[in-house]
Amino acid sequence: MMLGQKLTPNNYYENWTDRAYMSPTVFKRFLACEAEALAELQGKWEPCMNSTALVVGNWLHSYFESEEAHAKFVDEHTEAISSRGPSKGHLKKDFKIAESMIEALSDDHDFDLLYQGDKEVIVTGEIDGYPWKGKIDCLNLKQGYFVDLKTTADIYKGYWNEESREREPFVYAYNYQLQMAVYQELIKQQFGVNCKPYIVAVSKQDPPDKQAIDLPEYRLTNAMNQVLESQQHIQDVIKGEAEPIQCGHCAYCRSTKKLESVVSADDLLLD
Ligand SMILES: [Zn+2]
Repeated sequence: MMLGQKLTPNNYYENWTDRAYMSPTVFKRFLACEAEALAELQGKWEPCMNSTALVVGNWLHSYFESEEAHAKFVDEHTEAISSRGPSKGHLKKDFKIAESMIEALSDDHDFDLLYQGDKEVIVTGEIDGYPWKGKIDCLNLKQGYFVDLKTTADIYKGYWNEESREREPFVYAYNYQLQMAVYQELIKQQFGVNCKPYIVAVSKQDPPDKQAIDLPEYRLTNAMNQVLESQQHIQDVIKGEAEPIQCGHCAYCRSTKKLESVVSADDLLLD
């Protein structure tokens, strides 16, 4: 751990920073599966994720960060350009969609009015004694709000929540309220301003849909309570003072699973 080293745009995503600072992304990973999140934090496991989706998301983010940031990002991601077939030399399909998502927002006057402020602002602070970090897409301290850009398949799609037995929007399915609540707190600590969070969602549909979204206060409060309730155990797991709980179903748990027990067919869906 390199505590005391300052977070910069260049080192923000380095693995040591995830051990020095909690972040909403890592915290949500622990909520999903402690065993997988811990293995990842220790560098023993690379999660299988859709890296194209990630690059597409960052493609869009870098565009709205600055011209310079986008040019650099595009330069570094030559995989976006088709290298064979009739499409050779042109953007691949996913990146054409990214371009139309960028257009959908950049052509929108109201988006332009809203997306004013400092871009990609790194914030740090402490929540209940533990250091946290965050990166704000767009922070407008003067008018007291911040904006997070989200790309999603379909803004109005419902996701089944097994726990609450309810369909919920993508915002809650991905626990973005937790990220927004933490960001709000870190901004307050660092700048002394209580900012209202907004999500600007843009869909991967053709043509893309878009929507500015705010979060009910009780959702932010509940999310912060979830952080406060779960944090100690998660930190104990990280420190090796508590056993990580396996979710039993994620890629990591499947990859480490042993056929050591027998389950009745009646109970297969009861987990
Ligand atoms: Zn798991």
